[in-house]
Amino acid sequence: MRAGDLGILIDTGPDVRSQILREGIDRVDAVCYTHYHFDHLVGIDDLRPFFFHHRAPMPCFANEETAAVMRSNYDYIFGADPYPGAARVRLEEVTDPFPIESRYDDGAPSVQAEPIRLLHGDMPVYGYRIGRLAYLTDVSEIPPESRSQLDNLDVLILDALRPKPHPTHYSFEEAVQVARDIGARKTYFIHMTHNVRHAEQEQRLPDDIHLGYDGLTVEVEG
Ligand SMILES: [Zn+2]
Repeated sequence: MRAGDLGILIDTGPDVRSQILREGIDRVDAVCYTHYHFDHLVGIDDLRPFFFHHRAPMPCFANEETAAVMRSNYDYIFGADPYPGAARVRLEEVTDPFPIESRYDDGAPSVQAEPIRLLHGDMPVYGYRIGRLAYLTDVSEIPPESRSQLDNLDVLILDALRPKPHPTHYSFEEAVQVARDIGARKTYFIHMTHNVRHAEQEQRLPDDIHLGYDGLTVEVEG
């Protein structure tokens, strides 16, 4: 996403290279990781071109569990002796709201981001809130202590896998209930599985809830 002048990625999935090219993303100041499943992580090498002409390190924010897996699986990036061509990413475990700063020495104002503790089955994962937008992927439960972080949202991006219940993702019915409770001005469902018929499902949703799609652009006032 673009927050002011800053470019911020949430996760680096296997499609991140084609997404970056499709959207013409020319700067990434930071990556906020939600969890360590590989469909959210494995595109990390595709950050390398952001260091070809600009060597400043890029912070990768994550919870403790995610950071531990990243360190052990990507020793050539995060180990004591990184591979010389590796992306110059720097792991930062976060538990509280944190600033994301420009890595381009251009005076672009920093942006405050807030990790939101969620459960993906039994697994502790993060959602993120930046301004009046929250992005909650891969979630099956919002613990009560995290709920107040989701007040006064313009846009909620929320996991909704499929009509049938699933142990680690919200179903459509559950996601509609959660969206109702949170009451964002607009909610977009993401992470739908391949057999969801987009147009049919969209018609069944309340007016303020939509299915996301590749290339969807959402604008949120500061
Ligand atoms: Zn996952």
